[in-house]
Amino acid sequence: MDAADRALVDGVLAHQLRPLAKAITLIESQHEDHRARARALLEALLPHTGTAIRIGISGVPGVGKSTFIEAFGLYLIEQGLRVAVLAVDPSSSLSGGSILGDKTRMELLSREPAAFIRPSPSSCSLGGVAEKTREAMLVCEASGFDVIVIETVGVGQSETAVAGMTDLFCLLQLPNAGDELQAIKKGVMELADLIVINKADIDPAAAQRARSHIKTALHMLRPMSPNWPVPVLTLSALKKDGIVEFWDTVKRYRDTLTASGELAARRKHQAATWMWELIDASLKHRFREHPRVRAELPGFAASVEEGRTTPSAAARELLNFLNG
Ligand code: GDP
Repeated sequence: MDAADRALVDGVLAHQLRPLAKAITLIESQHEDHRARARALLEALLPHTGTAIRIGISGVPGVGKSTFIEAFGLYLIEQGLRVAVLAVDPSSSLSGGSILGDKTRMELLSREPAAFIRPSPSSCSLGGVAEKTREAMLVCEASGFDVIVIETVGVGQSETAVAGMTDLFCLLQLPNAGDELQAIKKGVMELADLIVINKADIDPAAAQRARSHIKTALHMLRPMSPNWPVPVLTLSALKKDGIVEFWDTVKRYRDTLTASGELAARRKHQAATWMWELIDASLKHRFREHPRVRAELPGFAASVEEGRTTPSAAARELLNFLNG
């Protein structure tokens, strides 16, 4: 590691925001020589990670994620804590923007020296975005943040990715009857450790009805942990009502699952899963880029489609090229 990268590591460890932002930019870079530097940087920071609580926040656009994260973040800062907000938005590379790209979102929070807000990295694949966010999260932890919030949009596989890198995955819902069925259908509710019904100020009675609907729906699902029946909270991010209860619930979750050993097990499992995902992705890439495979794949594919070769024979022969 050269002196400049060493200074970057020292800056991150000294809780400085500029080196932190630079380190994350290095991690997000697609250049091959930057990748090697980023790996060295992460190795140096890794012993200083693992201390923050990692919270995933998901919900459909308009549910109030950024309003909530801002109110929650400001509350945490009042308590003397430091908060980092990251995002996983695989659509950002298509739209050119991202869920945190708009500077007017979380304006008050972004002005706080104890807060760090970073938009979603842009990359062509969800796997790429998730990997970079996970690494950025580790850098933030090494930089002494107490709470890391990872925001994601309530669509597609990004929720699974975020649940797979956080200690607690929270689903924000609107107080409309019927929404909970949508969430169950998509399988998102199964990922949730905590459900929050936002905008309870608009119609508190409707929010309570939604709460009991969701509680009933949750009974149909197998709980992730026998020690943690998933709580359903009602909240108003706009009126900052219920933020204290939210944080108390997060702390209770952390204490309960730390005592049972489940939190440590979850992190271990996440790290191992992450390694396998990287191995799988890298093998697939190597296979597809292999010159012999590239040359012969179209022929084999045509042959399989026309029924002249079986898929298993074609797969075996193509994979054998990797040994050649
Ligand atoms: P996001 O797309 O999920 O990030 O949602 P936003 O945080 O941008 O909120 C969408 C809209 O809902 C904004 O106009 C917010 O002011 C409003 N909103 C957010 N939370 C609440 C709430 O608790 N009560 C009410 N009445 N409006 C809210």
